[in-house]
Amino acid sequence: MKLLIVGSVAYDTVKTPFGRRERILGGSATYCSVAASYFTDVAVLAVVGEDFREEDRAVFEEHGIDTRGLRMHPGGKTFHWQGEYGYDLNEAHTLKTDLNVLGAFEPELPESLRDIPYLFLANVDPRSQLRVIEQCRKPKIIAADTMNFWIDNRRKDLMEVLSRIQLLLINEGEARQLSQEFNLVRAARKILSWGPKMLIIKRGEYGVLKVTPNDIFATPAYPLESVFDPTGAGDSFAGGFMGHLAVSDSLSADHIRHAIVMGNVLASFNVEDFSLGRLGSLKKEDIENRYQAFRRLTQFGEA
Ligand code: AMP
Repeated sequence: MKLLIVGSVAYDTVKTPFGRRERILGGSATYCSVAASYFTDVAVLAVVGEDFREEDRAVFEEHGIDTRGLRMHPGGKTFHWQGEYGYDLNEAHTLKTDLNVLGAFEPELPESLRDIPYLFLANVDPRSQLRVIEQCRKPKIIAADTMNFWIDNRRKDLMEVLSRIQLLLINEGEARQLSQEFNLVRAARKILSWGPKMLIIKRGEYGVLKVTPNDIFATPAYPLESVFDPTGAGDSFAGGFMGHLAVSDSLSADHIRHAIVMGNVLASFNVEDFSLGRLGSLKKEDIENRYQAFRRLTQFGEA
């Protein structure tokens, strides 16, 4: 097993200008682990309630994801998130966050998963993220994500997480909120001073910015004609990125750039349908073809 993903498994109620879906499978760990499963061996650590449907558990298994860490909390209900997007699909408006079983999530890593080399702490309570960090033995890299909800409600724990990870992936609004800086490069410098060696800022349809103390790298997002639901774009980016990194087993600047492009590729599929409608049924050649299209999109020679 190469990559462990800790995060939320959710039922989402989502409205976009193109439709509405009720209680569909979502959650940060769901999108992330399915995206990563196209590249490497993945295990998931998350909690669900008694209402979690058998067919939804099967989705993880169909993708070969190790679900020994997908625990059912007796008597509880699965985390539920309700969100809405206007025509600016870059910004999700949270209408409701019912933490349910996620409120009492005390992640317990099975012994067999404690030596996993790549650890991704997807968006979940920073207290749960810390608990997992403490249970892992010498991971090669720890990366994490978070969101406005936790920046507002758990800032102190989040700062502790930042001091213990190498890589942070957040979106642009969150980078500004966390750092209290409007300019993204300044925001990145400030966040890097709190611990992470690398920051990846997700900018929705504008792409991604990677900042380290001595390098900046930027890519666009893949331009699509039809986008239905951006929910999970950040998580599927993270899954493609971490999955590719784990399989290349290198943290060189070139491998990181390559992994960022794979993150973009996976996120581009995710937004083409609700839930796992598109992301869940990819073939290797779909990924390869879009990767090549992405290369052409960003290539230029000497004039
Ligand atoms: P994103 O990739 O940022 O679009 O993430 C969307 C996913 O985040 C949705 O499927 C939600 O279920 C999940 N989510 C929303 N709020 C939270 C929260 N406070 N903690 C953990 N996961 C959340």
